[in-house]
Amino acid sequence: MYNFNDGLDFARQMDFNDELKNFKERFYIRKDVLYMDGNSLGLCSKDAEKYVYKALEDWKTYGIDIWTDENANYFLYQDKLGSMMAPLINADAEEVTLCASTTINIHQAIATFYHPTASRNKIIMDDINFPTDKYAVYSQIKLHGYNPDECLKVVKSRDGNFIYEDDVIEAMTDDVCLVLLPSALYRSSQLPDMKKLTKAAHEKGIYIGFDLCHSIGSVPHDFKDIDCDFAVWCTYKYLNGGPGSIAGLYINKKHFDMEPGLAGWQGNNKETQFDLNQEFEHARYAGGWQTGTQSILSMAPIEGSLKLFEEAGINNVRKKSLTLTAYLMYLIDTKLKKYGFSYSNPTIDERRGGHVALEHDDAIRITKAMKENKIVPDFRFPNIIRLAPIALYTSFEDVYEMVERIMKIMDNKEYENFDSNRGIVA
Ligand SMILES: *Cc1c(COP(=O)(O)O)cnc(C)c1O
Repeated sequence: MYNFNDGLDFARQMDFNDELKNFKERFYIRKDVLYMDGNSLGLCSKDAEKYVYKALEDWKTYGIDIWTDENANYFLYQDKLGSMMAPLINADAEEVTLCASTTINIHQAIATFYHPTASRNKIIMDDINFPTDKYAVYSQIKLHGYNPDECLKVVKSRDGNFIYEDDVIEAMTDDVCLVLLPSALYRSSQLPDMKKLTKAAHEKGIYIGFDLCHSIGSVPHDFKDIDCDFAVWCTYKYLNGGPGSIAGLYINKKHFDMEPGLAGWQGNNKETQFDLNQEFEHARYAGGWQTGTQSILSMAPIEGSLKLFEEAGINNVRKKSLTLTAYLMYLIDTKLKKYGFSYSNPTIDERRGGHVALEHDDAIRITKAMKENKIVPDFRFPNIIRLAPIALYTSFEDVYEMVERIMKIMDNKEYENFDSNRGIVA
């Protein structure tokens, strides 16, 4: 399907033909640095910066009227940004909002959808997702008065890399009431089949939600087709919303009448919110799952960033991302295999997220040497170097140049200048 060659001219030709090439200039990228860590923290764009300054100016100008003055109007900012984000997952605008952090939104989702009974109280998770999800679920089970060691049903990965849908489906027994899984694995970048999993869960009357942290902004999702019950995600990875920017929450509209597990006044019906009644009356849209006031300054950069995505189109972003990672795998095959490198991510497009999981037995020392050579990778213990060429700001020449620098590190044995103490990199 792809037809690559390993020369510099080819990389430059790919860049020349790239319809997204001009977006790179809108990001702050340090000179000569090859930033491959946009899957952990996306870079700052000039667009994101502009909206942070606008929010600051609006605060200076309007004071308390920042919420409602028609020229500022931040009262429902989280829902406005939610509606800008909805097309990334093909959801309705009212099904998406911004609030808190991913971890807290998992607490909110579990508090809302977990209704354990004596005979039905188990939650299915996997054993290779980013662990905060499990910490949150574990504590929620405890808060509900159940024993997490019994009620958390962990489906083990067969190989430590991938989730096997059939294993998860087999685990959906009558005592299970909820499933929480990632949409993309943070190590292997595998995209589990969300539709198949959702269909199986719903056939058994089980709620299912997904953590989109490692796919949102890189992989488009079709939630009208998948039809899962809830989803959470952060906005600071592929969405470039800034360190600690406010997180995303999706609630399927068929659940708008469900009572939010964690309530707060910002989740109240907007018509009556300022009556400040003692009784909570939750809003019937995703905003009903808001708790308190969200940080405007941590939402503002997301507005600039989402405008970039509107301009670029998420399907174009995905297409370029797939081509970049396929090209990187091709260069690993042709130039890096001989040094003992391999990769453990899925090779077929439909199953691969936004990064390549490069593997090497000496990954710690090589990671340190890469940093010395102005490459910013993302090391995962014990042997994975995650490399995420980002559609909006990584060029094909950047990928080519990175592989050249890695070859130099290996040819000159530069990594031998470093120790394999993981502390500094992990
Ligand atoms: C990045 C990530 C998180 C981050 O959670 P925070 O609450 O933003 O710290 C959570 N879960 C997964 C799967 C992630 O990849």
